[in-house]
Amino acid sequence: MLNKQEAIELFKRSGALLEGHFLLTSGRHSNQYMQCAQVLQYPDETEKLARHLAEAFQEDQVELVVGPAMGGIIVAYEVARQLKTPAIFTERQDKEMCLRRGFSIQPGQRVLVVEDVVTTGGSVEEVIQVVQEAGGEVIGVGVLVDRSGGQVDFGTKTRSVLDMDIQSWEADKCPLCSEGKLPVIKPGSRSV
Ligand code: ZN
Repeated sequence: MLNKQEAIELFKRSGALLEGHFLLTSGRHSNQYMQCAQVLQYPDETEKLARHLAEAFQEDQVELVVGPAMGGIIVAYEVARQLKTPAIFTERQDKEMCLRRGFSIQPGQRVLVVEDVVTTGGSVEEVIQVVQEAGGEVIGVGVLVDRSGGQVDFGTKTRSVLDMDIQSWEADKCPLCSEGKLPVIKPGSRSV
């Protein structure tokens, strides 16, 4: 399994974890920015991250891996490939998380729920509900990056590759602005 430093290096190397001076969508400033999709463009790096989760759940008789679109699709696919199970994904229809495309979960099926980044845990909670409504048994939750600061509790075995609480400040209290050294950058897409 990857230790914290190895995981941080992997995210930095792939451009998923940036360091600098960032303006977040919330209006706050931060010295770090995480865009998890950046790492998922590299299959060999994704394989290493997924291995961490596959190993964490290899004794749990997982029969199906499910992740929410978009972030969870690639994670589910690669974790499932390593656990030798199928992978499916949930998506939103009229804002409601559901299974589409003929995907189904069998009653009693042992399901691992995965996601790229967890902040509030909302999407994962919704996937858990979809699995349970189908009669599946959620045996655990695996995430690449837990940004909740240990605040989320899914009521099941939960493992993450990296626990990371990214610091941010109100713009007028930002120490980087006070130092006046760096221009503040607004990253291209929404912070995840
Ligand atoms: Zn600032």
